[in-house]
Amino acid sequence: MEKRQELYAGKAKSVFATDDPDRVVLQFRDDTSAFDGERMESLARKGMVNNRFNAFIMGKLEAAGIPTHFEQCLSDTESLVKTLTMIPVECVVRNIAAGGLVKRLGVEEGRELSPPTFELFLKNDALHDPMINESLAETFGWATPQQLAEMKALTFKVNAVLKQLFADGGLPLVDYKLEFGLFKGRIVLGDEFSPDGCRLWDAKTRDKMDKDRFRQGLGGVIEAYEEVGRRIGVDFT
Ligand code: 5GP
Repeated sequence: MEKRQELYAGKAKSVFATDDPDRVVLQFRDDTSAFDGERMESLARKGMVNNRFNAFIMGKLEAAGIPTHFEQCLSDTESLVKTLTMIPVECVVRNIAAGGLVKRLGVEEGRELSPPTFELFLKNDALHDPMINESLAETFGWATPQQLAEMKALTFKVNAVLKQLFADGGLPLVDYKLEFGLFKGRIVLGDEFSPDGCRLWDAKTRDKMDKDRFRQGLGGVIEAYEEVGRRIGVDFT
């Protein structure tokens, strides 16, 4: 496999072509963004930590029968993944009320959500990722009803696997965002799963162990990510 030109640079990751059109290289950078890119900072080790973290989680999900784009780690900060045509819809599951839900509905932060909620957002920084629904996604052609149904089922399947994994590490999985894409006509989990795109609280202290530390200026961001990784068995060496 030969790494070729950069195809796309996102806020925290870059995508490179390879000599195989069905494979691209994801490079996890140290860049950290919040508020749709309004705040950007470079945090040492973040690229490595998120690359290793994501590889570990994608492996667990594949083992549970969830199709992912992940193929293999290539270096500390690079992974080989399948080339997906991304669906511009973010799927969010919430087990505990926090963040956007608390703001939007005025419910108490920390309230257990039973059953867990499922929300869709349009991936669009300029519009600040507005909340959408199945009807809008179908009308505007962002995803078909069949694709949405499959994305929802897979997002909840991920919840079953990861809620348990993090709970075993003393970390309630509060909420998370997933992105999917198409590979040879099949829905596949894409993007990444790391503390950048989920909320994890320490079960005892309720300390935030995720990107909210960056969003809220709490410090110790990467130290918290590493602690989460250590508790669930990620190898950072
Ligand atoms: P909220 O809607 O409360 O802001 O986010 C819900 C969950 O999805 C959180 O775990 C948050 O980190 C994640 N999330 C939602 N949108 C994005 C996004 O655009 N980027 C990242 N990294 N995470 C997101």
